[in-house]
Amino acid sequence: MIRFDNVTKTYMRGQHPAVENLDIEFSRGEFVFLVGASGSGKSTMMRMVLKEVAPTRGTVYVAGRDLSRIPSWRVPALRRDIGMVFQDFRLLPSKTAYQNIEFALAVIGTPRKVVRRLVPEMLEMVGLEDKGKRLPHELSGGEQQRVAIARAYVNRPTILLADEPTGNLDPSTAEGILELLSEINERGTTVVMATHDQSAVDRMRRRVVEMVGGKVVRDEQDGRYETEGALSVISGNLPDDSAHREEHPLDDVESRDGSGAGQDVSAREDEPASDVLEEELIDEREARLAQEEDAFSEDEDEEGLR
Ligand code: ADP
Ligand code: MG
Repeated sequence: MIRFDNVTKTYMRGQHPAVENLDIEFSRGEFVFLVGASGSGKSTMMRMVLKEVAPTRGTVYVAGRDLSRIPSWRVPALRRDIGMVFQDFRLLPSKTAYQNIEFALAVIGTPRKVVRRLVPEMLEMVGLEDKGKRLPHELSGGEQQRVAIARAYVNRPTILLADEPTGNLDPSTAEGILELLSEINERGTTVVMATHDQSAVDRMRRRVVEMVGGKVVRDEQDGRYETEGALSVISGNLPDDSAHREEHPLDDVESRDGSGAGQDVSAREDEPASDVLEEELIDEREARLAQEEDAFSEDEDEEGLR
């Protein structure tokens, strides 16, 4: 579903990479916790999946597709299939809960009839059926995050990325948000959640990927927030990386502009069969959506992806 193939991201020449030689795969339907101190590379990983940030080296695949080969006009279609939730909710402040969810559908040209069915359905799913008319500032933090999750999920994305979604919430509110993400995962969406919420991670016992200084230092099924008895750096500072500075010059200067130029495109040949299957499933889903909603805002030329 999501694969990082030897991915390094260096934002600025001479700086320690934000993510370094990352080789990891998240499968369809998985629930993954990304843990690690601030600055360890969690958000960078998510931004690469959304193609907001291009890797300096290596390849990111989403549903079998090498993101560097997706043309910019196809990026909205990619993002339509990936929901994103943030710590600070990022709702449109002058729009009601209903309108915030509606907006996500309107921008992709969903017919009004479908919108009128889906928005109440989403409000109900997140337990806010009676608060659709509230503006964000008239909602609690937990309620705002529920609206943000409804907005992220209304297009039924195959992937939901949540970047510290409970970071601004009290523990009991956070618990409700976790339950919601868990329910979305049970409905088949792959969920990747960056978090510092130790109790959530320990309670859920899902896959835990721990990052330190841009590298994966732990990848455990049914994991806990911290390895028992280990001296963890999750909530502390990063190890002193000053010794590594200047050790990682950008050897691929061309790709720094984010265009992806200069990347190795031959990797395409190595795609495993399972990814091809996933690609077909996505195409199937897109075809179904197109049929149901019959009005994509742009010309979905499937040839452009192959
Ligand atoms: P996390 O989400 O785990 O806190 P980030 O991915 O945000 O980590 O950051 C990883 C490293 O990359 C940090 O050292 C951070 O300062 C750096 N970084 C992140 N975004 C940028 C950017 N846009 N420009 C330069 N450096 C960045
Ligand atoms: Mg972050």
